[in-house]
Amino acid sequence: MSTTPVPLTDYEASYRDARSPLEQPEYVFWAPPARIPRGADQNRWKERSANWPISYHYSSLCAAAYERLNGPVAPTLRPLTQDQVRAMALELGARDFGVTTVDPRHVFRGCIVAERYAIAIGLDENPAEIDKAPALETNDEVMRVYYELGEIAIKLAAFIRAHGYPARAHHPLGSGDILIIPHAIAAGLGELGKHGSVLHATHGALVRLALVTTDLELAVDGPRDRGLADVCTRCKACERACPPGAISNEKQDVRGSVRYIVDFERCLPYFLENYGCAICIKVCPWNKPNFARAVLQQYAERQGRPPSESTRRLSAELEAGIRDDP
Ligand code: SF4
Ligand code: SF4
Repeated sequence: MSTTPVPLTDYEASYRDARSPLEQPEYVFWAPPARIPRGADQNRWKERSANWPISYHYSSLCAAAYERLNGPVAPTLRPLTQDQVRAMALELGARDFGVTTVDPRHVFRGCIVAERYAIAIGLDENPAEIDKAPALETNDEVMRVYYELGEIAIKLAAFIRAHGYPARAHHPLGSGDILIIPHAIAAGLGELGKHGSVLHATHGALVRLALVTTDLELAVDGPRDRGLADVCTRCKACERACPPGAISNEKQDVRGSVRYIVDFERCLPYFLENYGCAICIKVCPWNKPNFARAVLQQYAERQGRPPSESTRRLSAELEAGIRDDP
């Protein structure tokens, strides 16, 4: 695997050289309470979740893990290839792996991420538990996956540092320094769904994500358009299922990129009262591997041709929010 260094973009150059002001994201939630408008709500969630044994167990382990996100770098450089890093990530339990460069537009205001590359890793949730949403069992499962994914990222970063290269983990629970989703999309792990979560070709919306940033020279993967988000233009499943109507069919300009955005002012009150909700994740048809395969095949086939009868039928089903396997 080639590890040709990627030239600096203008954005990166200005960020690295002058720390010039950029339009960077602000914390919305899962951040120091004093830094967010809904800090009191976050504290109330924390108090309530202390009575949920499994969720509390995993969130406590996550909180303790924050001390291990970074650590000393071995003084002597040892050769380390991209294939070795990928193999280690998969051995540790990651289900997917991709590489991009750190994009300062997706680093939170006031934070510095000095490393050059971002490794995105993904881990899937158990659909049987997500299907119960909104429920405590669903939140337990989300917390379990956040914990396990955080451990994979921490161990992968330690593995890279042991070879003499700076590397630090960015935990999936808590806002950290950097937005994970745009980097995971840029690294080819999936596409942005209307519900604000990544659509993964195998695990649909059930994939959760973490990052490791590093100065180990890596080859970048780049985003992949498999037509997954194309379905969002016709599907209304998450939009219709969202109890407070927080999911919009209209894309908006967010810091220079036109994309779907969830209205957090509507989502959060319901989310906080209903064990972290996840209804929009539950109803996403991409969670069904057979469904995904069928649509992908049709997407490929219909390039340059009028839509087939089966594609029209599928579109009608998506429109109605039906999520049974085809
Ligand atoms: S988590 Fe629940 S409330 Fe929030 S966008 Fe999804 S369905 Fe709507
Ligand atoms: S439920 Fe439908 S509209 Fe929502 S993200 Fe999934 S495919 Fe897109």
